[in-house]
Amino acid sequence: MQYHLNGYRTGDPAKAPAIDQSKENKNNVDVLIIGCGPAGLTLAAQLAIFPSINTRIVDKKSGPLSIGQADGIACRSMEMFEAFEFADKVKKEAYWVNEVAFWRPGIDGNAALIRADRIQDVEDDLSEMPHTILNQARVHDFYLERMRDSVRRMEPDYDMTLLSLVRNDANDYPVEATFDTKANTTETICAQYVVGCDGARSIVRQSLGLELKGEAARQLWGVMDVLALTDFPDIRLKAAIQSANNGSLLVIPREGGYMVRLYIEMDELHGNERASDCQMSADDLISKAQAILSPYTLDVKEVAWWSAYEIGQRVCDEFDDAATIANRNNAIEPRIFIAGDACHTHSPKAGQGMNVSMADTFNLGWKLAAVLKGQSGSQLLNTYSQERQSKAKELIDFDREMARLFSEKSSSESDAKRFQQYFKQHGRYTAGVETCYESSLITVASKYQMLATGFPTGKRFHSAPVIRLADAKPMQLGHVLKADGRWRIIGFAPKYPGPDTTNAISNFCEFLQHDTNSPIAQFTPTGADSDSVLDLRVVFQQSHRDIAFETLPDLLKPTKGRLGLIDYEKAYCANLSPGQDIFALRGIDRENGAVIIVRPDQYVSDVLPLSGYDLLVEFFTGFLIRQ
Ligand code: FAD
Repeated sequence: MQYHLNGYRTGDPAKAPAIDQSKENKNNVDVLIIGCGPAGLTLAAQLAIFPSINTRIVDKKSGPLSIGQADGIACRSMEMFEAFEFADKVKKEAYWVNEVAFWRPGIDGNAALIRADRIQDVEDDLSEMPHTILNQARVHDFYLERMRDSVRRMEPDYDMTLLSLVRNDANDYPVEATFDTKANTTETICAQYVVGCDGARSIVRQSLGLELKGEAARQLWGVMDVLALTDFPDIRLKAAIQSANNGSLLVIPREGGYMVRLYIEMDELHGNERASDCQMSADDLISKAQAILSPYTLDVKEVAWWSAYEIGQRVCDEFDDAATIANRNNAIEPRIFIAGDACHTHSPKAGQGMNVSMADTFNLGWKLAAVLKGQSGSQLLNTYSQERQSKAKELIDFDREMARLFSEKSSSESDAKRFQQYFKQHGRYTAGVETCYESSLITVASKYQMLATGFPTGKRFHSAPVIRLADAKPMQLGHVLKADGRWRIIGFAPKYPGPDTTNAISNFCEFLQHDTNSPIAQFTPTGADSDSVLDLRVVFQQSHRDIAFETLPDLLKPTKGRLGLIDYEKAYCANLSPGQDIFALRGIDRENGAVIIVRPDQYVSDVLPLSGYDLLVEFFTGFLIRQ
């Protein structure tokens, strides 16, 4: 974390200096976010750091969530939390899912449960982050804290229920949202953009005439967080249990060491029956869990939270209003977006709901910021629905298969093995690291992928260890990719010694800094720091003790801020300890080096040669506006 750039400040460095908002109109805003779930809060936390973007977030609830709902945090979401600077807090508080156990009835007609397998949950080097379990309410707390500490000191407005939305492009703030307030009055907020993060029964979605499409939910599931005594041996492991005759149960140990969440397969729903029609009670859930776990005992001492719900895997065809106004064409700028459960719903079996919802708005946030700050044209916004709708569809298919296999009676050993196999194979999927965006304005199917085989374009930047040159700090390179709306250009230096070594990086820096055609020259606003839009980092192959900091090109030790201080955090070296070398781990071409372009949401846009100046310019010219 860097601070004191513009002068020494006392107190908590996470708390940014507040800006004066007294002259802003609270009812004419740049972005209006409906809903304080994980989707809405991720977006609000992203936008809160931009002083010039006036954002409001509202919810019909009267305060923050305090208990229940989702709890699984995929590795990819943990990587994103690192970008929001609160991954360490989650790591400290959460349960870590390191192993998974599979239980099923014994063979030869023996109905007693046996442990069929116990496997590693996250494969080696899938992510530098663990798979964790933490109450959704705590995740909300961390986002709210970040919003509160931001330059905009953002707080949600509660007790505001959205009633309707109207778009009128003749107005400066073209989307008008009407709310019912606590005082039973109506309030109108006009916005440049509205994002509906208002959950599965989204009013925003309905106002766009969009529908969640997919199979109706047929299976009723119960979920409860309990403090209980049991002799089931794997109660502190994530455990998938398939009983002979009583259905299935998923054990998710919870943070704090004592509580456990149980997902319990209840009955099939018939006709138009809904979960609420079944009049379930916590006692029904406990009885069913006891039957599935038998002969092991379960003595529930306290139920912290419970719910009964139907599984439904459904997704909308579009995630914005451009297509509902006319056939999608780039002339129509989307103004209203939907994200999270508002546009896709999942079963909780694969733990996707909260994770995918946060990923939606992490994708959208930087795009809205870039357009509102005048950095990018509005065509960038079309990529949100394109990218996230197709990924949601893929995840829904995966989730459907997972839920089906989970509920299927394992009549034979091979059925049970099939489930275990599917679970193992798709670990990357559930970890959230398999998302791969197609080619678009901001993602290129690179001709130079062989220069960095471990950074496939379209996938998230897969972090690896490095050593920061100036202060010899061992760290993860991915952790420099903060949620600050900046693009990263990461140069990997070619082999040393050899005269070309320094030349390739020096020439690259020379081009970026001094050529009038360079993307830094073209797209950085006058007077702004050289890294304010495009942030260059370089990684060298040799030991950090073999490079003299003072010999680095100026762009790798830029002077910044009010006092013209040097930024010492642009140059890194491979960590040469066994198994830690980023060049080996990520398949970087040692002879030629490589350039990786990384989006503000940490996805790899392009892989280029260090001398590919024209391609670099061409890429950014496709969507950035000359300043
Ligand atoms: P939500 O978290 O649903 O947030 C939507 C927000 O919008 C809410 O705060 C709501 O009050 C607000 N809102 C809705 N309508 C309006 C309106 N008209 N005006 C203003 N505000 C509005 N997932 C799991 O993995 N495991 C679980 O056990 C699990 N249990 C769940 C139990 C419940 C009761 C619910 C609702 C969801 C559960 N989920 C579970 C799903 C998981 O919580 C969601 O996938 C995730 O929260 C989606 O995030 P979101 O931000 O899209 O929507």
